[in-house]
Amino acid sequence: MALTTRSKVVVQKKMSFWEQLYIPAILKGMGITFSHLFKRKVTIKYPEQKRVFSPIYRGLHVLKRDQEGAECCTACGLCAVACPAEAITMVAAERQPGEETLYREEKYAAKYDINMLRCIFCGLCEEACPKEAIYLTDRLLPANYTRAEFVWGKDRLLESCDSDKRIDVSVRHSYQKESSI
Ligand code: SF4
Ligand code: SF4
Repeated sequence: MALTTRSKVVVQKKMSFWEQLYIPAILKGMGITFSHLFKRKVTIKYPEQKRVFSPIYRGLHVLKRDQEGAECCTACGLCAVACPAEAITMVAAERQPGEETLYREEKYAAKYDINMLRCIFCGLCEEACPKEAIYLTDRLLPANYTRAEFVWGKDRLLESCDSDKRIDVSVRHSYQKESSI
């Protein structure tokens, strides 16, 4: 039984002498290519040129620090539980005396990995976080040659201690607040 009423029977007719030369088909193809030279281009010269993203674009994650530079994440695991792709893994550790400036709470993530090949950039980890410790940013995931390079650990996820190099998440933060009302 036919799966659709729009099926079309294709007849393989014998090619004429001109068709067998392929020259008319090549000229026709070149004509189409040439006509596109003068049309508005839909592509851009990435990475020199970049498209303007939505202010709430969901790109690479960042693990945030507080105003004093301490890591906000308490390794509660809620982001990992919320992640539909099971992309997040972490190992929790207890803060030791003298480490108060490094970690905001008594517990912190000694190891925090996101497998970017699994991640679907849905933002549920960000929504689940009670400590405003993880945000998605407008940064793009760079291409790479090995799978291991796509597992991002704290060395690449955690933002810099330098206050000038902090990643601004204020737009996503306000978006989160508005969408949770
Ligand atoms: S953005 Fe979605 S898929 Fe990616 S780590 Fe967060 S919850 Fe998981
Ligand atoms: S990022 Fe947020 S939700 Fe995930 S473990 Fe850290 S504090 Fe918990």
